[in-house]
Amino acid sequence: MSQDFESNLQDADKLLARFRNDTLPHFVNGMHDAGLSQDTFETIAPADNSIIGRVASGSVEDVGRACEVAEAAFEEWKNVPGKERKRLLHKVADAIIARARDIALVESIDSGQAIRFMTKAAVRGAANFQYFADMAPNARDGLSLPADEHLNYTIRQPIGPVGVITPWNTPFMLSTWKIAPALAAGCTVVHKPAAWSPYTGMMLAEIAHEAGLPDGVLNCVHGSGAVTGKTLTEHPAIKAVAFVGETTTGSQIMHQGAETLKRFHFELGGKNPVIVFEDADMDRALDAVVFMIFSLNGERCTSSSRLIIQESIQDEFNAKLIERIGKLKVGHPLDPVTEIGPLVHQNHFDKVCSYFDIAAKEGATIAAGGKAAQIDGKGNYVEPTFLINASSGMTIARQEIFGPVLTAIPFKDEADAIAIANDTDYGLAGYVWTNDIGRGHRMAHSLDAGMIWVNSENNRHLPSPFGGMKSSGIGRDGGDYSFDFYMETKNVCIAMGSHRVPQLGKA
Ligand code: NAD
Repeated sequence: MSQDFESNLQDADKLLARFRNDTLPHFVNGMHDAGLSQDTFETIAPADNSIIGRVASGSVEDVGRACEVAEAAFEEWKNVPGKERKRLLHKVADAIIARARDIALVESIDSGQAIRFMTKAAVRGAANFQYFADMAPNARDGLSLPADEHLNYTIRQPIGPVGVITPWNTPFMLSTWKIAPALAAGCTVVHKPAAWSPYTGMMLAEIAHEAGLPDGVLNCVHGSGAVTGKTLTEHPAIKAVAFVGETTTGSQIMHQGAETLKRFHFELGGKNPVIVFEDADMDRALDAVVFMIFSLNGERCTSSSRLIIQESIQDEFNAKLIERIGKLKVGHPLDPVTEIGPLVHQNHFDKVCSYFDIAAKEGATIAAGGKAAQIDGKGNYVEPTFLINASSGMTIARQEIFGPVLTAIPFKDEADAIAIANDTDYGLAGYVWTNDIGRGHRMAHSLDAGMIWVNSENNRHLPSPFGGMKSSGIGRDGGDYSFDFYMETKNVCIAMGSHRVPQLGKA
């Protein structure tokens, strides 16, 4: 065991002692809140399936109270000047940076994600706060739209208290991606983290409070989707719901919020293609293909889980891939050398492993992996898996597996590649590898996905729009797109005093 691994284990143990000894409460109105309900649930460490601790489970009344608190806090927060919101959100970012290692350690233990990625995710969480802090002073900006005898101009106002519901794959980063723009816009937030990974969402609420965010502006309530999440999406005080999670859950949430006419932003599942043409830079394409399915345990919405590979190079490319997959390091999430950690939960592990039998039954070939990985005889470890000789109709090419499993489908030419890539219910991301610049553009225009990367992996630029088409989502995040969601646009029309006002009842 390396020294770094050992000190990660020791430091994580110290941080987790708090969660082992006390039930994790909610965070409402600037303080810990045990909740009215006595219900709790346990959380599990994916590395060995031991219990980390117990967590308060938010009842209908608990969620209702958090929503009312957010509603009351909104009356003041919406009027806090943009410059002051900027100052406060930068303080939150600074506090995140100061606690980045703690966040990464807790996140790795709680979610099973390798520490090498969680360290970066915590820092990226701070970057989200910095970016939207800087945008806060201009969040209200609108357009000047002069007409002949009137001046129209638009302003934006925060929509109100919002619900933020996040999944377990990279909980801290995803929470900041939603919460930072909401706060910068002037909204207050009730956040419900995923029940399988509740800790870092709570840490964010505590950190923000310690950094000076006023009471009630960011609240965190734990619990199940069925009760806690559902109540949040139905509560009349909540004006919009930003949700990241599965497609079917998004659909349920839309039903739940219909009665109170919620605005929704959905970031849902994906089955993203990476298309490699014979003229691509093979080495760079190989690096990107390996990274985009095996980083973050393959539990990544933008993972390129379908390799669409030109027939002429498939033997060579697949052979190189198999060699690289054989060298991937599966191991404990806190070991700095680990590239693939354990899957988040036994249920998810069972789901991912079920696809190995399905692949074999449907006639695909398991070229690498295809079984559980034995690490200390414990934990939800899966061997990185490569399925070849697949076709678009197979379950493994259609369903989001959300694990370290890559499915390869060969194609003949550009038209064939587009047809295969678009033969999916999803439309989140698409990756194209070619050295033909015209083809790169043609592919980008033809692929049915919200985000296309040509000759690149998932490189993010915070002002750029992030989001999916088809069953992968509704709406875009990033830059000003985020403010369009968290704010209402109001038009103001002012007459020059010269136009003729219609006169009725005068004749
Ligand atoms: P999930 O849909 O099961 O749960 C997500 C969150 O929704 C959790 O907090 C859960 O408790 C809550 N929830 C569940 N049912 C609810 C209900 N009826 N009402 C309100 N809330 C409810 O998703 P998951 O398994 O936690 O996460 C994995 C999924 O997230 C994958 O499909 C993945 O692709 C998707 N994801 C998408 C993006 C993106 O940007 N498009 C990013 C990350 C993850």
